[in-house]
Amino acid sequence: MILFFFPLIIFAQDFNSGGGEYNLYNNDKCLSNLDRIIISNEIKENLKLLSDKIILNKNQSISFIWPLRKDTSLSFNNYFGISNFVDQDTSLASILDYSCLNRSYDGHKGTDIFTWPFPWYLYDNDYVDVIAAEDGIIINKHDGHNDDHCPNTMGGTWNAVYIQHNDGSIAWYGHLKKNSLTSKIIGQSVSKGELLGKVASSGNSTGPHLHLEIYDSAWNLIDPFQGSCNNLNSISWWSSQQNYRQPVLNALLTHDSKPIHGCPGINEEPNMANDFIIGDTVFFAAYYSDRELGDSAHYRIISPNNIVWDSWIQLSSSTFNASWYYWQKLLPLNGPFGVWEFEIEFNSQLYTHKFQYQSPVLIEDKNNIVRKLVRISNILGKEVSEVSNRTLFYLYNDGTVEKKLIFNK
Ligand SMILES: [Zn+2]
Repeated sequence: MILFFFPLIIFAQDFNSGGGEYNLYNNDKCLSNLDRIIISNEIKENLKLLSDKIILNKNQSISFIWPLRKDTSLSFNNYFGISNFVDQDTSLASILDYSCLNRSYDGHKGTDIFTWPFPWYLYDNDYVDVIAAEDGIIINKHDGHNDDHCPNTMGGTWNAVYIQHNDGSIAWYGHLKKNSLTSKIIGQSVSKGELLGKVASSGNSTGPHLHLEIYDSAWNLIDPFQGSCNNLNSISWWSSQQNYRQPVLNALLTHDSKPIHGCPGINEEPNMANDFIIGDTVFFAAYYSDRELGDSAHYRIISPNNIVWDSWIQLSSSTFNASWYYWQKLLPLNGPFGVWEFEIEFNSQLYTHKFQYQSPVLIEDKNNIVRKLVRISNILGKEVSEVSNRTLFYLYNDGTVEKKLIFNK
């Protein structure tokens, strides 16, 4: 029974938005002290066995390239951030990173580089490679352990590759994906940039990330980042050291439902979509690494006729290793239809994401143009099935919306 009829109902534009910091949870030990001793002993044993094969040149300089690389088919602008540096303060319960701040956890001996956004989607699709930062020889490998650990399932042994460089220094690449490791065996050489494995979450890990741990030829721990609070070594080991904070938009995406972050098989739901028809709610979302307190991002939604349909500015409420924001919007029911653009200006860079907005094809019979029901929504705009005693909105493919309240018979 129809109580009301309106030819067109204008839905609220900005009735939902959200986001904020993305919690990485990775503030627990990447590797237990016992595991570190076991691994060190294995490496020392292997080095004895390889002693006639390895010719070191202590004067060889080390110049690391970035140890992660994205697959070219991944459309994200960027895909990582840094959650923890080496903890330079060896006293209990105090934390100090190379830049005299506290982006680490107590006793951390490596650099943690996490993948983001949707780390489990990146993991499922093998989108992020761990590559050798420097030439060297494989001196140990661990494989075959579960690699999908989250806060509730962390623990056990990691999968890892260990490389000795020409100067005798050693890099540990940990938390790798099971069975993704290079097929090369202990004693074989790898070149800078060569695939070692895929980013995952094996061992004591709360989510996909690389733990990179480095020792010099005398087994002194190294922090590859040069800075005034690096007490371990004085020079950077990077060929080009990135800034302490490198604010970047990792991805701007459109979704057909609110994206959900979480763990594999439990609740990570990227819900990415680029094709919409009238009546669809579009979730416009932005994913950042290293946003800093007060920095601004300018958002614009541009229609196919090049008119800015909506625009807004958003300031970061704090400094975050990883953050994200979304806005839920209904596009104008009368179009224009075609390719729309979602645009973000951030940190003097312009980023663009394209999506399709289309009108369904009208169905015509002999007598009249027949409207086709596209969807039924409740008063919050959420798609629902027909129920009695609730106000519902029936959207048709000609752009009309009927408000109905059907009573129990
Ligand atoms: Zn770590």
